[in-house]
Amino acid sequence: MNITSTIHGIEEEIRSIKKALGDKLFIAAHHYQRGEVVAISDCIGDSYRLAVESAKTSARYILLCGVRFMAESAAILARENQMVISPDLRAGCPMADMINLPLMLKALEQLDGVVGRPVVPLTYMNSYAEVKALTGERGGAICTSSNAEKILSHYMEGKEPVFFSPDFNLGINTARRLGLSLEKIFKIDQQGNVSSLSGGVVASMFPPADGVLFLWDGYCHVHKAFTVADVERVRACYSDIKVLVHPECDPEVVAASDGAGSTEWLYRMLRAAPAGSCWAIGTELNFVYRAAAEFPEKKIVPLRESLCPNMARIGLEEVLKALRLILDYENGAPGTVLSVVSVPPLAKTQAKAALSRMIELTEG
Ligand code: SF4
Repeated sequence: MNITSTIHGIEEEIRSIKKALGDKLFIAAHHYQRGEVVAISDCIGDSYRLAVESAKTSARYILLCGVRFMAESAAILARENQMVISPDLRAGCPMADMINLPLMLKALEQLDGVVGRPVVPLTYMNSYAEVKALTGERGGAICTSSNAEKILSHYMEGKEPVFFSPDFNLGINTARRLGLSLEKIFKIDQQGNVSSLSGGVVASMFPPADGVLFLWDGYCHVHKAFTVADVERVRACYSDIKVLVHPECDPEVVAASDGAGSTEWLYRMLRAAPAGSCWAIGTELNFVYRAAAEFPEKKIVPLRESLCPNMARIGLEEVLKALRLILDYENGAPGTVLSVVSVPPLAKTQAKAALSRMIELTEG
């Protein structure tokens, strides 16, 4: 049997299980998933869209084709009778791993002392449930690359001191777009050291500072890979090219580009672009290749080939294995164990408060 007929057979079986489960199944896929996984999904989106769409479905089984923090976010918003299932529980996120509950507690304690008043956590969706839960408990919000600007500006207008984690680049790029003075932006590292952007140590702020932003020093290795030299190289290759990047890229890369935004924004820009236009995209490779295939009348190239190995763990075979188990479970086959992603009840309530605040501030 050749590879094509094998893939065809897998797709056939996936479609047949989907048909058998009907409305009881909802498959959500992140933009960075492979094209063949996206093709069999019911919903595709960035982490914000996946959380919102997963919260809307009444399906009993939500199969989340993405990394663990995405499945956790869906589990936080899921109803009592719903199960969020991962095709591969090993699909994690190195950026989300860069902050955990003890590190965040230590950072907040340190910052409360430095500022002289409680600091509000603003936490990127790319974080684990325990971090989202502490964010909710402290009255903070979650944000994604789609809505970071709106939510950060809400807190800055309220003159709140904000602790943004885990992605330094999304924080600094968002602050720059809002025109926040660099003197109001600080870094805090895993040891709890607070410093100005120029490196000077900050021990305390007196009188207590308003509207200041503290950035954790996490990063996404997939987006860190893009460089200003990449931008210069594609501009040298294609005279009329426009360069668009994700805000997890370094600020120098964002400054050298023609625009930065979430994957949803990148997709909308490419869809609206005229035929014959030429684009280099600085985000995960699967997204760029899929956009190039979907819009063949436009020239779309990766700014550099940068792949997320965790997203790439999930393929059609993993999806099929998960679906077979779901069908067995639904049919009451004894001993069937699903790869359910769950969040403890208290953490779920607290994290849900932070996610709900994000949705209110975004949609409101
Ligand atoms: S692309 Fe970056 S932030 Fe997204 S899952 Fe991969 S490592 Fe994490």
